[in-house]
Amino acid sequence: MLDVLIVGGGPVGLFLGCLLASRGLTFRVLERRAEAGAHSRAIGIHPPALEAFETLGIASPLLAAGVRITSGLVRGERGAVLGELEFGSVSARFPFILSLPQQRTEQILEAELERLAPGTLQRGAEVKAVQDVGPHVTVTYEQRGQTHKAQARYVVGADGCRSLMRGLAQIPYPGATYADKYLMGDFPDTTAFGGAAVIGLHAGGVLESFPLPGGLRRWVARTDTLHASPVAADLTALVQQRNGHHLPSGECSMLSAFEVRHHLAAQMVRGRLILIGDAAHEVSPIGGQGMNLGWLDAAALADVWGNGASARALASFERERRRAAQMATRQAEINMFFGRPAETVGQRRREWLVRGLLASGAGPLMAKAFTMRWL
Ligand SMILES: Cc1cc2nc3c(=O)[nH]c(=O)nc-3n(C[C@H](O)[C@H](O)[C@H](O)COP(=O)(O)OP(=O)(O)OC[C@H]3O[C@@H](n4cnc5c(N)ncnc54)[C@H](O)[C@@H]3O)c2cc1C
Repeated sequence: MLDVLIVGGGPVGLFLGCLLASRGLTFRVLERRAEAGAHSRAIGIHPPALEAFETLGIASPLLAAGVRITSGLVRGERGAVLGELEFGSVSARFPFILSLPQQRTEQILEAELERLAPGTLQRGAEVKAVQDVGPHVTVTYEQRGQTHKAQARYVVGADGCRSLMRGLAQIPYPGATYADKYLMGDFPDTTAFGGAAVIGLHAGGVLESFPLPGGLRRWVARTDTLHASPVAADLTALVQQRNGHHLPSGECSMLSAFEVRHHLAAQMVRGRLILIGDAAHEVSPIGGQGMNLGWLDAAALADVWGNGASARALASFERERRRAAQMATRQAEINMFFGRPAETVGQRRREWLVRGLLASGAGPLMAKAFTMRWL
């Protein structure tokens, strides 16, 4: 009988494993993929998550692998600088957003989990069913063609936005798809922006860029329609058109077109099942909060178990984490709103508003919001 079974070894399940290991709980992480993920989705690691990593002694390898984004430059049409968000005041320990592709983050978390609790991650283990039998849960999973059962006091669904755990418990996951679509790609960094993130509020739609490790830069452009079969030249043309920068299409190392959604599970705690990460909430990636939100769910849940897991503590966990997800959803919606196309007059008004806001002393507050300091 284990204390906890974690279903899903994505970034959130892996971090929860590290937290439980440090608290001396018995657990296993069941992950259906035989190999670590290869997709570079999330790149932004915010100060609250870095602080949570540091308490476990696992921040150093992430810091060594990533690059530090110390400010965000906001620009309008024709390169006009509207203002700058400085992240220096958002955290005494980590006054920056760390940029690191998600697959590298997952590799590091997996290595740290193996160091803290060897053999607890089981790859190629796909969970098929879960049964709540009162004092414990029984999970059925398949691995290498064989069916296995495992028992635990709690099961955590960290199995992503299409969560089987949520589906089996019939927990509703209401939400919607936004009209906004995006095209994103990684290229050698041929700009002079250095460690700054650049948010370009263009009349045709937002164009963002972020430094990445290895001398690369990620570009994200809002598009009117979803590019069904994108090619690098689609993105380089948008970048050229919006800010005049030439990107070498032949040197694109990642390209993806995506649409964005928001969802929030009606419950995060149902008996002995607890949902965290994307299984509990999906937030638009514009603003880079989803993975961080999941890590903070994991840290809050580990605290609940560290304090005896009373029903009251679990209820308060659920309330606080649902509220955090709602805040992140609103923050992402504000980000998307400012990045929508504007008519010429609307563009002038928008630039005037943003310039005024950044000059008004609201900058530190906005820097806090962008680094998830109010979650
Ligand atoms: C384009 C894009 C950019 C993004 N950028 C950012 C960013 O900059 N910052 C940020 O914070 N977030 C960002 N996000 C969001 C982030 O990628 C997700 O929030 C994050 O991956 C969620 O982690 P998770 O562990 O909850 O779920 P997932 O990453 O989906 O992991 C779930 C795991 O569960 C496993 N699994 C599923 N079902 C089963 C089963 N039945 N049995 C066993 N295992 C199972 C899956 O194989 C998977 O490994 C971005 C997302 C996108 C699409």
